[in-house]
Amino acid sequence: MKAVSEVKQYDVAIVGAGPAGLAAAHQLHDAGKNVVVIEKYLWGGTCPNYGCDPKKILLGAVEAKEFTEFLSDSGIDGHVDINWSDLMARKNQYTDGISTGTEQSLTASDIDHIAGEASFIDEQTAVIHRHGQEVATVFATDWVLAVGQRPAQLSFPGAELTVDSEQFLSLPDLPDEVVIIGGGFVAIEFASIAAAAGAKVSLVVRGDRLLKSFDETMVDSLMDQLDDRGVQMYFGTEVTEITSADNGLEATLSFGNTLSAGLIVRAAGRVGNHDTLALENAHVQFSEQGILVDHYLRTSNPHVYAVGDVANSPAPKITPLASFESQHVANEILGEEQSISYPARPVVVYGTPKLAQTGVTTETDDTDRYTVNDLDITSWYTSYRQGEPAARVKTVINGDGQIVGASVLSTHADELINYLSSAINQGLTKEAVSQQLTAYPSVASDLTYFF
Ligand SMILES: Cc1cc2nc3c(=O)[nH]c(=O)nc-3n(C[C@H](O)[C@H](O)[C@H](O)COP(=O)(O)OP(=O)(O)OC[C@H]3O[C@@H](n4cnc5c(N)ncnc54)[C@H](O)[C@@H]3O)c2cc1C
Repeated sequence: MKAVSEVKQYDVAIVGAGPAGLAAAHQLHDAGKNVVVIEKYLWGGTCPNYGCDPKKILLGAVEAKEFTEFLSDSGIDGHVDINWSDLMARKNQYTDGISTGTEQSLTASDIDHIAGEASFIDEQTAVIHRHGQEVATVFATDWVLAVGQRPAQLSFPGAELTVDSEQFLSLPDLPDEVVIIGGGFVAIEFASIAAAAGAKVSLVVRGDRLLKSFDETMVDSLMDQLDDRGVQMYFGTEVTEITSADNGLEATLSFGNTLSAGLIVRAAGRVGNHDTLALENAHVQFSEQGILVDHYLRTSNPHVYAVGDVANSPAPKITPLASFESQHVANEILGEEQSISYPARPVVVYGTPKLAQTGVTTETDDTDRYTVNDLDITSWYTSYRQGEPAARVKTVINGDGQIVGASVLSTHADELINYLSSAINQGLTKEAVSQQLTAYPSVASDLTYFF
């Protein structure tokens, strides 16, 4: 492909205006670099528009409902229902302004930005297309690829009748029966939300368990809770066909039976958007797992870096890591030559309840180096006060008494895991954690008793 538009020259061009792209853009611009950001869809990317933030708004109502149910017959009378369309309106009120607001903040910061899809024509030049028209040609000394991922497609007959995560997070109505295909964090979070909102939910999982990267016994505890909330789980099973039926859809499973549904959600993995970039023209190598990067997050082309969800780096594909990688690359472009080293990072599944982990796996069998504590905290004050049906904490302690890993299952897991991650990253011993002054009673004051 040949460029026809005038070539614009920059120090750094950043493709993708999600959390990764934006972090680098602001940092490099503030350091005096001449920067451009290119975005083909919504400014702000997945997380605030159709990922983390809208999902947790829906979860806000789910938790409010659950908290009243936990205390029914223990001080709360009556029944609470989720009104899906009102909840969706609340979500929309938040998300509707995100893209425009993000673009305005780029303008206010005087950062050049171009709406359109970038694809390389040589090692340092890309053309930008919008609605099929070439709108710009960009040459940059350095490129930061932050193009993220999208939901994987499925290939069985009728797969086009499924909806993806973005569509689920914008559903005007929630049908009575929902089938969710997948066993990862998005599938579990959506199953939790849909079940609490009153749908009969079936989870169809190809593997033999949920959440492969999480501690299996903790996942078992989470599954018990999903089961109690009416989520039907089918393991070792695939949907082989979807057909339209009188009252909606019908999914055929690989072991022969069928599930009827008003909605079938495809949450079976995500694939990188690197295929949109014509990377072969830039001599940037990639695999099915994303753009190949070294310990500096450099690609096979020394002018090009890849960060965030699209980078085949060893980090989990979540927002804080996308920004972390991006800031690392910005520092490198500014002259700091250092391989990336990741701190303990909290990863949370926002289900009912939440499951979180950080640091050394709590499944470690290295008993020479580590001691693993496993505590059922359901009857502890914090859980009792709110009537939580299940709560559990596992910690990993090394030979010096330092906390090095943790898993938490609880309504408060997202907050607790932050305290635990922070203790790990500061190298705190269990005694040092116990000596910290915290408000009592609070979630943080329980930390003293975890080891
Ligand atoms: C349903 C869901 C829930 C999630 N919940 C959480 C959560 O609770 N916590 C958490 O930490 N993470 C969560 N995530 C993950 C989080 O959203 C991502 O890790 C994060 O958005 C990654 O940031 P990124 O900048 O790498 O990619 P993205 O945010 O995906 O941004 C990439 C951008 O690049 C653009 N783009 C792609 N190709 C091109 C091209 N050729 N030219 C121009 N632009 C292009 C895309 O349009 C997109 O805007 C969730 C994800 C999903 C889908």
